[in-house]
Amino acid sequence: MDKQFVSQIADIETDFPQWYTDVVLKTKLVDYGPVKGTMVIRPYGYAVWENIQRELDARFKAAGVENAYFPLLIPMSFMTKEAEHVEGFAPEVAVVTHAGGAKLEEPLAVRPTSETIIGHMFGKWIESWRDLPLRQNQWCNVMRWEKTTRPFLRTSEFLWQEGHSVYATGEEAEAETLRMLALYREFAENVLCMPVLTGRKTEKEKFAGAVATYGMEAMMHDGKSLQSGTTHYMGQNFAKAFNIQYTGKDGALEYGYTMSYGVSTRLIGALIMTHGDSRGLVLPPPVAPVQVVIVPIAQKKAGVAEACAALSEELKACGVRAKVDDSDNSPGWKFNEWEMKGVPLRVELGPRDIENGKLTVFRRDTCEKGEICRENAAARIKELLAEIGAALYRKAETRMKERIVQAGSLEELLAGVDGGNFVRAGWCGERACEDRVKEFAQATARVLDENHTGKTCVCCGRPAKHTVYFARAY
Ligand code: ZN
Repeated sequence: MDKQFVSQIADIETDFPQWYTDVVLKTKLVDYGPVKGTMVIRPYGYAVWENIQRELDARFKAAGVENAYFPLLIPMSFMTKEAEHVEGFAPEVAVVTHAGGAKLEEPLAVRPTSETIIGHMFGKWIESWRDLPLRQNQWCNVMRWEKTTRPFLRTSEFLWQEGHSVYATGEEAEAETLRMLALYREFAENVLCMPVLTGRKTEKEKFAGAVATYGMEAMMHDGKSLQSGTTHYMGQNFAKAFNIQYTGKDGALEYGYTMSYGVSTRLIGALIMTHGDSRGLVLPPPVAPVQVVIVPIAQKKAGVAEACAALSEELKACGVRAKVDDSDNSPGWKFNEWEMKGVPLRVELGPRDIENGKLTVFRRDTCEKGEICRENAAARIKELLAEIGAALYRKAETRMKERIVQAGSLEELLAGVDGGNFVRAGWCGERACEDRVKEFAQATARVLDENHTGKTCVCCGRPAKHTVYFARAY
């Protein structure tokens, strides 16, 4: 029974793509929608998203950002106002041409991102320097038509947050771009227990319409990179396209400087592929929908159900997300089910435990069993959850550090990414060399390392202007 259950998931080491598909479907995080490229986020997956949302939203609010909501539909004329922006997004935009049984006078874009409509509204609201900075965020869905899709990683519709700010000066807007990158990094490390590389993107990889894009990249189980969040400094590109102007202290009319930042349901894919193992999901305690599952042993015996319920209530009162699995399945079946679903801690509670005043605990991250005293169980379980989070981070950090290699030539770079590594290498700054790396090794420049030590370009051998992390990416 046990073996059969585990064998439902493909082997993580030999068939990682199938492992991912099996895990997301069988743990009921997600299902495919009827329209190709769409996903249904099921309650277990949505609960993870709600925890991500709650943690991030609190951080935005603490930073002084306000939430708002802007419309899904954007006049097509807005999309074309910023030349690079329209060029970058045109292939992915879904357009509404008919509504109410008639052809529309102007086609409407289903938002792929909201710089244009928010720029339009900000232009209307901002009058003087007193209105700045203006900093708003929205939690919403966006649509980008994709040819090849995978749940959470790439779907035509996904959920995200997009923050947009206007400042009087470029320095302030750039500083906010870096501040939000740091906020994402702190969130990734402490809430997702996921180490990341952060840094500036190359011109080729930047957001359409931005002056500079910064990214947060995480290393997945197979050594590929997943872009997990981006922040963009727009300079005055969008301010000029949407007339975001203010009257300065000296009475002169000036254009503002804008920036934006976003993370999406992709983060759920990042979590799965960072922490998962051969048994399935391993969820970090801060975002796990169920942090502690209590499995009754010999649950029909007198006192067992009551003892489980009492422990669950005690944990909930301490802010722990606990659940008793009192279904009719066997304990062994329940163990497998909750292990596959990645619950950080399992408590087994039967007549013998009650008699001894002990609880049997199982840590999902190490798959080790231990014993704790019933007396101060809630406090000890909270400690264990914190230990699990820290251990998950350390494990992922060790893997990332071990798998960053240096390369001095294209051959070395290829060998590096073939071996499932991130490759750190010098780069002259020329687009032609970046394109050649892509062609030769199917690897892209993920972020620039601000600690620039590269001597020569990995491709052409000329002096290096930057040091780049190259990787294959999702
Ligand atoms: Zn070069």
